[in-house]
Amino acid sequence: MKLNSAAKKYGLSLAAAMLVSGCVNTTVPTKAESPKPDDLLNATLWMQNSVEYKANVRNIFHLAKIQLDDALKNKRRTALPDMQKPGYMKLPPAIILDCDETILDNSKYEAYLIKTGQGYSSTTWKKYVQNKVAEAMPGAVEFTRYAASRGVEVFYVTNRKKVSEQATYENMRALGFPMGNGKTDTLLTKGEKPEWGSAKGNRDAMIAKRYRVLLMLGDNFGDFTDKASGNLKQREAAYREYMSHWGTDWFVLPNPAYGSFESSAFGRNYHLSPAQRRQKKIDVLNSWSGK
Ligand SMILES: [Mg+2]
Repeated sequence: MKLNSAAKKYGLSLAAAMLVSGCVNTTVPTKAESPKPDDLLNATLWMQNSVEYKANVRNIFHLAKIQLDDALKNKRRTALPDMQKPGYMKLPPAIILDCDETILDNSKYEAYLIKTGQGYSSTTWKKYVQNKVAEAMPGAVEFTRYAASRGVEVFYVTNRKKVSEQATYENMRALGFPMGNGKTDTLLTKGEKPEWGSAKGNRDAMIAKRYRVLLMLGDNFGDFTDKASGNLKQREAAYREYMSHWGTDWFVLPNPAYGSFESSAFGRNYHLSPAQRRQKKIDVLNSWSGK
């Protein structure tokens, strides 16, 4: 059918008829090659603008609250069975949470990277953190305040650096997160002690010596186990090994923007360009043949 007659038949404008007939590429034409591809775009769009992301996060805090109540009643429960010593049932209760993209929303920083065409850098990240503009993730303040109201010590084990601890503390306190009673350091940053590196196991073990750890919450596999630093196959094996924890006492917040899921796909070769990393990520995809 000719476009003019299609327009007449369906009462459409010529432009609408072109769309219906598939004559028009609906991709908005922009300057050639602009904007450039950016692997952060869809993830940041989803995390910052979708109700689906917000609802996902609320789902998790809601389920975590149910499990928290149960774990308070059942003194045998622990989220860190390999780390707790005999008699742990008598220890006071605690929970361990990561900060970034577990309870703190840094999508403004990701949006800044996209809009300025930059990759992550420790310089811009430090400046962002010092600005204290991170927001709370949906339901995070309510969940942590509820835990604190039940007498649970709320620990934050973060890989933000010691130099950023004060700004992080002030940002979190202003958002309403429980920050302890002033006697116990509950915000444990990377490098705060010489042995506190990126791996979080020794910080978790230190908490498990003095507390019964009811729940762990994080957005990255490394928030739960140091085995996260393996290759893709090793990570899959560790994920299976800990199957009984997921949704019971380990809760993963969604973070499609960054994390060890991505770095393990390009072998943690951070010297690779964005395009080289993208190729490595494409290479590990399991694809339909198209036949
Ligand atoms: Mg995180």
